[in-house]
Amino acid sequence: MADAVEELTPWQRPLRAQFPIIVGHPELAYLDSAATSQKPQAVLDAVQRYLTTSNANAGRGSYPWANTTTTLVESARDRIKEFLGDPEPDRSTVHFTSGASEGLRSVARDWLPALLADGDEIVVPFADHQANLAPWLETRELLARQGVRIRVRELPYQESSGDYDPAALAEVVGPRTRFVAATHVHHVHGVDLNVHRIREAVGPRTPICLDAAQSVGHMPVSVADLDVDFVVFSGHKALALPGSGAVWARGRRGPAFRPGGWRGTPNTVGIASLAAALDWLGAAGPDRIERWTVALTSRLTEGLSRMDAYEVLGCQSSLSAASQVQRRRSIVAFRHREIASHDLGFILFSHGFMVRSDSHCQAGGEEKEGSVRVSLHVHNTPEEIAELIAALASLQ
Ligand code: PLP
Repeated sequence: MADAVEELTPWQRPLRAQFPIIVGHPELAYLDSAATSQKPQAVLDAVQRYLTTSNANAGRGSYPWANTTTTLVESARDRIKEFLGDPEPDRSTVHFTSGASEGLRSVARDWLPALLADGDEIVVPFADHQANLAPWLETRELLARQGVRIRVRELPYQESSGDYDPAALAEVVGPRTRFVAATHVHHVHGVDLNVHRIREAVGPRTPICLDAAQSVGHMPVSVADLDVDFVVFSGHKALALPGSGAVWARGRRGPAFRPGGWRGTPNTVGIASLAAALDWLGAAGPDRIERWTVALTSRLTEGLSRMDAYEVLGCQSSLSAASQVQRRRSIVAFRHREIASHDLGFILFSHGFMVRSDSHCQAGGEEKEGSVRVSLHVHNTPEEIAELIAALASLQ
């Protein structure tokens, strides 16, 4: 049976050719898409087209450029609902943000306080991205100043598997649990954190906010499947411009999500880029993007597992077991047993590989030893992975 790489190569080649920065630098391999993504020509064209044909403010003027811009913003909301497979688009809302950090903070600041009363508990991740911890702690402080005491419980996480621990979660959840924040795909360990198990543990009534920064644009994300209340993502990790992102809110559990206050001019260029990126991703097929990047990541994890000099973070124990590798998405983090990760990052760049090598903004990560993180997108190739494995082997 042909493996996914062989089967999908004819599909992938023309897609790679649509990334000008990738095509323009054949001597380099961009392996840092979890930090930010490269942009296909269609997104660059959409930005150029918008700025040269109809740039204006949204929701203000009544001349054609202003109307076009207003329509662009409104249709981008519909596009996001459609992209996320929203079965009840009339019920949900989409709020544009500058990225996932602002989106999570907006849920924490503009929505969560109205849900909580003195003595309530919330469950939040302490081992995920800082962006998915700091805002919830800030809300606790804000409420404490108003005399409302909230208990923050830790969403149990196992470093060894890179996964949440649903059995331990059942112990943490109690009658005062009002809210859970979770992550879809872990930004260091690359594991699909299987949010269904969280829903099972907390029951049908507790709102869940999902940080989907590492899943939207990399794999199918269907809100019809995921029984969550918020999906927060960043545009810049999903092939759109920096400064773009969105919060999708289901509007079924808890108060309505209506971020308050005067919000000023929206990032219309970012929104134009996001709509174009979702069109591009939709046409390419998130399922195929996922299969492609997971297949390449599996090759890398298998290559690393054959070299004693390296330790892979998260599911180390059974790298060759298909189930574990398949839970890993397009991210793998590892350490060399003797070379510091920062140095390894420099060495890899001298071979043309752009990787990330620090503690990856993981909450509490300042206290941990850094690691090298390789994260892939649709433009990456099996040749890049083979060359990376050869470069890593030469450092054993
Ligand atoms: N959440 C996760 C899981 C991330 O990986 C990141 C960025 O690395 C963020 C949130 C923050 O995203 P943004 O840069 O869009 O604010």
